[in-house]
Amino acid sequence: MKTIHLIQGDITTQKVDAIVNAANTSLLGGGGVDGAIHRKGGAEILEQCQEIRAKQGGCSVGEAVMTTAGQLPAEYVIHTVGPIWQDGQAHEENLLKNAYQNSLKLAEQQHFNSIAFPNISTGVYRFPKVQAAAIAVETVRDFLKQSTHTQEIYFVCFDKENFQIYQHLLEQTQSHDIQVLGL
Ligand code: ADP
Repeated sequence: MKTIHLIQGDITTQKVDAIVNAANTSLLGGGGVDGAIHRKGGAEILEQCQEIRAKQGGCSVGEAVMTTAGQLPAEYVIHTVGPIWQDGQAHEENLLKNAYQNSLKLAEQQHFNSIAFPNISTGVYRFPKVQAAAIAVETVRDFLKQSTHTQEIYFVCFDKENFQIYQHLLEQTQSHDIQVLGL
């Protein structure tokens, strides 16, 4: 059964095939969830990010790349770059959708069963949380309807506000083909 898990906590502790990092275009690490992943995962993650930079010069907004998860309990890190919120007129919604879609596409290509997402762009990048959650849930639900390998998605909310927004949204959008755990 395809499953969406809602969790309040720290994504670096999740034991899944891949955790998603809300990275920036440089792939060189930053604050927030990016900082936590590099700090706890160790130097190997940054080394592989630097190899990707050498090959393709970073990662564009809405795209996704993959590295080891180093010392983290997950197997891999999918680094994606969400948009910086400007005024809502700079394709922010589409770019955030692309970030989720390209991360999911990579997971499916790699035959990953389970992946965990943080609330991309809702920290330093200031994307409105309710709008971001709606995009995340809709994109994940549409993906799960047709995925073969990737069957379990974890939404890992660090802050209580995001957790409550997801709780509300997932309750409202229950469907018979996808089970939701953690509400
Ligand atoms: P962005 O630059 O994409 O906004 P941030 O890392 O600033 O990225 O914030 C994205 C989200 O990640 C925020 O909702 C923030 O609360 C959350 N976050 C920060 N640290 C962690 C963590 N260790 N695990 C999961 N989520 C985290």
